[in-house]
Amino acid sequence: MIENKKIFKGLTLDELKVWCDENKLPKFRADQIFNWMYNYLVTDFNEMLNLSKDLRNKLSEEYTLNTLELIDSKSSDNNKTKKLIFKTSSEHFIESVIIPDQNRVTLCVSTQVGCPLDCQFCATGLMGYKKNLTSGEIFDQYAHAQRLTGNEITNIVYMGMGEPLLNFNNTLKSLEIFAEKVTEGISLKKITVSTAGIAPKILELAKSGLKSKLALSLHSCFEDIRSKIMPINNKYSLKENLNAVNFYAEQTGTRITFEYVMLKGLNDRKEDVKALISLSKRIPSKINIIPFNSLEHMNPSGFSAELKPTSKTKIEEFVDRLRNSNITVLVRDTQGDDIAAACGQLAIKY
Ligand code: SF4
Repeated sequence: MIENKKIFKGLTLDELKVWCDENKLPKFRADQIFNWMYNYLVTDFNEMLNLSKDLRNKLSEEYTLNTLELIDSKSSDNNKTKKLIFKTSSEHFIESVIIPDQNRVTLCVSTQVGCPLDCQFCATGLMGYKKNLTSGEIFDQYAHAQRLTGNEITNIVYMGMGEPLLNFNNTLKSLEIFAEKVTEGISLKKITVSTAGIAPKILELAKSGLKSKLALSLHSCFEDIRSKIMPINNKYSLKENLNAVNFYAEQTGTRITFEYVMLKGLNDRKEDVKALISLSKRIPSKINIIPFNSLEHMNPSGFSAELKPTSKTKIEEFVDRLRNSNITVLVRDTQGDDIAAACGQLAIKY
C-alpha cells in the first residue's frame, strides 16, 4: 500500500536544494538525501543514516519515498524477460519489462498510463490514454527493477507505455536525476528515449543539454504510409521529424536509432529498403528492425486488425540488403511475446 503522504521521490537535485532552503537546512543535506534516494534506493527515511534523527522523523511524518507498488511479475517461458506490473498511488496500473541480453540487462520503462497516440501496431495505443506518470514514478520503475535483480540493470529505454515527449517535463526531470554525478547507477549514455515523433519536443530535448540517446519510431520512409501506421504523422510530418532528429544528432553527438517494425506488404518492399538506405546515409543512425508482435490479446479492429508480420525469410533478405549497403542494423528478437511483454504489446486491460 502506498501511504497517503506527499511524495518526495522525483525531486531533482536543484529542487531538493530549494526544499532545503525553505526548510532552513544546509545545502549539503540535498546531496545526502539525493544520494540515499537515487543511489542507495532506500524506501524509508529512517535508512538515511547521516541525517539527524529529527530530520528523519520530520521527513517520515510528512512524506513518502514510495510512488509505485509492485503487484505482480511474470517471467517468459525461457525465463529471460520479466514483466513487472505496478499500481500507482492514483490506482492506475503500468508495466515495465526487464530484458537480459548478452552483456547487458535493459529495463523498458513507461512514461504514461496508456497512450494518446494511436500507432496501429501497438497494444498500448489501443488502451487509450489515462494519465502522465510523475518523474518519481518513472524513476521508481528503475528502483524496483534494481532491487529485484540485485542491481543488474545496465541500460534503460523509455519505450514502455506512453509517449515520453508528451510527458515532457517529467521525462526531462527523470533524465536530470540520472544525469547527476551523484547517481552512480546509470549514465545518460545508457539511456534511450524513444519517440513516435513529436518534432518540437525533440528540438527542445536537444537543447536541454541532456545527452541521452534518441530513438525515432520510423516504420516507413513514406509520409502516406507512415500516416496510416502512425496517425501522429499527420500532425508532425516525417520531414519535420527527420530535421529534428538530425539536429538532435548534431547537438548531442549521438547516433539516432530508427525503430522499424516489419509489416507485411506495407513497409517491407524493395522501395522501402531503398528509402531506408538513403535516409541512413543522410543522418548518423542505426536501424532497429522489430518483428511485428501479435495484438490478439487486445482484440484489435479496423486497420490494426489487418496488420500482418513480415515472414522471417523476408526480414532476413531486408536486413541483408541494408547490411550490404554498410548500414548498422540490429534485429530485435521477440523476447517475452508469451507474456505480452514484447515490443508494442504492453497494455493493461481495465
Ligand atoms: S508505439 Fe509508443 S507512441 Fe505509439 S501508441 Fe504505442 S506507446 Fe504510444
